[in-house]
Amino acid sequence: MAASASPLVEFRGVEKRYAAGAAAAVAGLDLAVERGEFLTLLGPSGSGKTTTLMMLAGFETPSEGDIYLDGRSLADRPPHKRNMGVVFQNYALFPHMSVAGNIAFPLRVRGIRGADAAAKVEAALALVRLEGLGDRRPDALSGGQRQRVALARALVFEPDLVLMDEPLGALDRQLREHLQIEIKRIQRALGLTILYVTHDQSEALTLSDRIAVFADGRVQQLGPPDTIYERPANAFVAGFMGENNRLAATVITQQGDQCAIRLAGGQIVRATAAATFTPGTAVVAAIRPEHIEMGEQPLPCCNALDGRVDQLVYHGDHRRIHVGLDGGGSLIARVSADRDVKPGDRLAIGWCTDRCFVFPAADGSNPGGEGS
Ligand code: ADP
Ligand code: MG
Repeated sequence: MAASASPLVEFRGVEKRYAAGAAAAVAGLDLAVERGEFLTLLGPSGSGKTTTLMMLAGFETPSEGDIYLDGRSLADRPPHKRNMGVVFQNYALFPHMSVAGNIAFPLRVRGIRGADAAAKVEAALALVRLEGLGDRRPDALSGGQRQRVALARALVFEPDLVLMDEPLGALDRQLREHLQIEIKRIQRALGLTILYVTHDQSEALTLSDRIAVFADGRVQQLGPPDTIYERPANAFVAGFMGENNRLAATVITQQGDQCAIRLAGGQIVRATAAATFTPGTAVVAAIRPEHIEMGEQPLPCCNALDGRVDQLVYHGDHRRIHVGLDGGGSLIARVSADRDVKPGDRLAIGWCTDRCFVFPAADGSNPGGEGS
């Protein structure tokens, strides 16, 4: 009763240092994974995602804190007694075994053999749509098929929880998107709980019920994809999740979560404050290219600025317009490909106050966004 009301997994105050005196790879981690959810750890390379998964799988030990499965501490439970399926980038198939042999391996480890095992292997092959390929060797499969086998091997023993660390990282984009849909289908069909790691924000947005954005070993924000995208909690998240214009500014006044700021070029605009600021504070205003409105006439929205088209960049289905603001500063707006604009055109631009977020300027974190 108490156990089923608790989250499936709970990290409590978990910290990991790989060596005494080294910087923490993971710090202050309090994170609950609910039953049946698809939770993604998203962040740049080195942010602590793999370390978090390795501690849960039991291949690394927390330096501090504890991890609970079904309300029970995992501290003294070895990896093979945690009943978790794992699909890791570096956890390859056994090359000398057939596909069926690979998938049967976790069953053998658990003492399941014979007709019972064969039936489970068949069902797992069907689940990942590889019927009839059980006799092949891994080297006779495509990269996408190999990842399907890895998935089948992780699911065949009906684990409580599946951990996936960049499972699609080595595949090309089309195949990756195809397998994302497959993973989601399987998760829904089996009601699986999945803890997934990626540095790819579009993959995280596509797959997840919730996303934990990692940077420097800490969770920066935890929430559903639309909240992470539309209401970033800090400058790091705003910079990491998709494209953002970042404008240096100074706070003039604030009322509730609305504030007036002065941009570096002197223009005064209204925006949504992500924290409480005293007047004069140096801040960064973040606004997405698709949220910038443009017209030849002055715009009716509350933030109306004037500028000129510096440059146009074609992206197939849309174009990006580099706009130089009157008074100084520049930003990038996104418009449909057929919109009639050319370099040198004068433009009125603006945005809704709730589309522009103001963060402390000295936020420290580097919104790099690259990673592997
Ligand atoms: P991510 O998966 O987000 O790329 P990792 O968890 O692999 O991040 O790494 C987090 C930090 O811990 C990095 O600074 C990395 O260099 C360090 N680290 C990871 N594994 C080890 C290890 N086995 N020994 C020492 N340091 C490690
Ligand atoms: Mg990693």
